[in-house]
Amino acid sequence: MRKRIVSTVCGRLTLSYTLLFGLLSLAAFVLVYVHIVGDLNQQTDDRLRATIREFTKTREDGGLSGLQEEFDRESTAAGKERSFFRLLDPKGRPVASSGQRVWQELQWLPARIPAGSEQFKRLRIHELEYPIRIIATRLEDGFLLQAGIIDDKDEVLESYRETFSTAFFLILVLGGIGAYMIARRAMSGVREVTEAAGRIAAGDLDQPISKGNRGEEIEALATMFNTMQKRVSGLIGELKAVINNVAHDLRMPITRMRGVAETTLTRNANRESYRNMAVTVIEESDRLVSQINTILELAEIDAGIRVLAMQKVDLAEIVRMAVELYLPAAEERDITLSVQIDDQPYTLSGNQDGLQRLLANLLDNAIKFTPDGGKIDITLTAEKDGVVLSVADNGPGIAKEDKEHIFDRFYRGDTSRSISGNGLGLALVKAIARKHNGSVVVHSDGKNGSCFVVKLPQ
Ligand code: ADP
Repeated sequence: MRKRIVSTVCGRLTLSYTLLFGLLSLAAFVLVYVHIVGDLNQQTDDRLRATIREFTKTREDGGLSGLQEEFDRESTAAGKERSFFRLLDPKGRPVASSGQRVWQELQWLPARIPAGSEQFKRLRIHELEYPIRIIATRLEDGFLLQAGIIDDKDEVLESYRETFSTAFFLILVLGGIGAYMIARRAMSGVREVTEAAGRIAAGDLDQPISKGNRGEEIEALATMFNTMQKRVSGLIGELKAVINNVAHDLRMPITRMRGVAETTLTRNANRESYRNMAVTVIEESDRLVSQINTILELAEIDAGIRVLAMQKVDLAEIVRMAVELYLPAAEERDITLSVQIDDQPYTLSGNQDGLQRLLANLLDNAIKFTPDGGKIDITLTAEKDGVVLSVADNGPGIAKEDKEHIFDRFYRGDTSRSISGNGLGLALVKAIARKHNGSVVVHSDGKNGSCFVVKLPQ
């Protein structure tokens, strides 16, 4: 149970606050106590001094007998057991005294006090409940005048200590209860967030934590939590879509292969038909393998499993090589490939393989979507903080509603249904650009071609 209380923030706050209250009130008590003790001592000593002054005057005016009378009167007025006076001659023999036995008991006799000076002492005598505070003053003629009064400040202090103990106990109990209530209130926001998180964990992904007035920190936590939940739910949605698409895309070629195999078998086919069937199976299998590889590659790049080793590469060189590779395909369809690269090295830290794949995908798309006799412009320019590669074609362009999705996995525009592809090319382009801390965007008005712009930091 103790462990459970200490392990909760609420419990810890309560204990800390209670401890703090306790320590502060203890410190205040000690401070006041020291002050009171000092004050009471001062008062007693002042009283004793005043008494001595009075007696000295009485002795001067009324002689020894006058002093004796004054001793008796004073001691009776204050109480026989509460005040004691005596006068000793220079040899230490008592010549006048208020007469109590207490003086016989008294061990303390100031040995050497210079004339005109005084000395204080606090003495405990076993038959008295309280100690006595005594002043001894050496008079000018060598006589020693002593006055003592019961020092009962202990009684006052005792009652102060009792009052404080009760107050201390109350402070601890009430402070503890107050601290617990404050801590509970402070933690109520956290509890709400935890409950909401629990609902989300139980599968209710679409219910965000409501905004409230739970304090800035808790609200920030709730907002962060909602952002995270949105992202998680987005990722799950994306994952579902990917799985659907993968299943769909893999089923198509397999169905095709099965169809070809079935017709070949049932048609009592000749050797040529078997050959054609084998060619179809090989082509479809190749396509499947390449698609699966791209899916894996994308997943690995996104998850950070595939680390693209970075080295110094010349992007101009990579562009030239890619153009050379795609030139035959372009020429076949009478498409002009024009390249504009300033005569300067475009070195950057990058992954040669990855950048080649990026360019290949952009050029592949450009050639695929540009009609025969079209034109593709590839330009490479240097900017202040990086290089900008653009691949522009004069194909059909990209519709506004497609623009925000074409970089998603498996997304294929409506117009491209009749053109081969799997919707993974641009997703890979984006993933590679991101791994280079770069970006890719598309500009298109939806009819006059499209222009893909890749920015890579140098
Ligand atoms: P795929 O080309 O296999 O369909 P991509 O991811 O490379 O997949 O492209 C996604 C979609 O973006 C394409 O289906 C197409 O609709 C559109 N797209 C890409 N490049 C171009 C382009 N150069 N011109 C017009 N549309 C394009």
